[in-house]
Amino acid sequence: MSILSKPKKVVKSLKAQKNRIAIAQEQLKVLNQGPFETGKLPKFKKKLEEANQFPLRLKKLDVFQVNIGYMCNLVCEHCHVDAGPDRKEIMTTETMQQCLDAIKVSGASTIDITGGAPEMNSHFRWFIEEINKLGVKDIIVRSNLTIIVANKKYYDLPEFFKANNVHVISSLPCYTKENVDKQRGDGVFVDSIRVLKMLNEVGYGKEGTGLKLDLVYNPVGANLPGAQDSLQEDYKRELMELFGIEFNYLFTITNLPISRFLDFLLASDRYEEYMEKLITNFNPYAAEEVMCRDTISVSWDGNIYDCDFNQMLELKVASKSNHISTFNIEELAKREIIMSQHCYGCTSGAGSSCQGATV
Ligand code: SF4
Repeated sequence: MSILSKPKKVVKSLKAQKNRIAIAQEQLKVLNQGPFETGKLPKFKKKLEEANQFPLRLKKLDVFQVNIGYMCNLVCEHCHVDAGPDRKEIMTTETMQQCLDAIKVSGASTIDITGGAPEMNSHFRWFIEEINKLGVKDIIVRSNLTIIVANKKYYDLPEFFKANNVHVISSLPCYTKENVDKQRGDGVFVDSIRVLKMLNEVGYGKEGTGLKLDLVYNPVGANLPGAQDSLQEDYKRELMELFGIEFNYLFTITNLPISRFLDFLLASDRYEEYMEKLITNFNPYAAEEVMCRDTISVSWDGNIYDCDFNQMLELKVASKSNHISTFNIEELAKREIIMSQHCYGCTSGAGSSCQGATV
């Protein structure tokens, strides 16, 4: 290859690349060693103890998050799931049925369906319809938007979402093509805008329809997100002026140092600097509000985790009820939440959760 030619963008998951950071144990080694082993940086547990917040426990289960598979049509730079077309982990209907049985007795008011691209699970529509029959308050689908125009079998998803009163939450890391395509791949911005218009056309994001469309921002580099309110104003103004697009809320999410973002930090030699930034901005009020205190996360194979990040690190809940087939809310309520240094991402600045800033 000529040294002048542009390097080809890697479009495989870390797992398919056989990158060591695809292995949960390797990520945990990075998070527990180096500056945290030498004492140069304080471990998350110590910070929590100093803030009288240790151990973290469930307050009340409100959000029942289900990851129905790691397959995705995109390979985004900062994806904490390491999702992509080469990922084959997909939830079966048997596990979905166990989730439905658990949801019925869980007391959760929000069911949060994520992936990968959850729409790529062939049982996705059935699962949503069955959840809808349970009469829960909020059914969230985390859609990458582009899947809806990736194949004609998905074109009618906006109507399907509307018919099932689904709350759509979509990542859109910027309102400029350059930044979105850099983080998510060529052509993603144009497809995202096209799908946002399709969602607006059926009523999503429009006042008075009750059809909720929220967007998610995460920083492009090794930085904390800016203030959620002012970014939301910028997004609303730019998306309306440039494309006539409406949406409800913008959620800012901090990149947690795991998976592809951890790989990026290590490869660019910015890991320690980023961890220092998270620690310097540690906010005890955000620690009080971390999402694992009202959420559980179920993986494609039915294991139960404190959150989607712990799922990716294969840190199952510290409870006898650690699989959906043995779901027991009383047991889960007794457990201590498992944490490591990645948890600094949830407690830095204004806090971070799947629903954006927490304080
Ligand atoms: S990473 Fe998970 S376990 Fe850690 S604080 Fe955040 S939500 Fe809780």
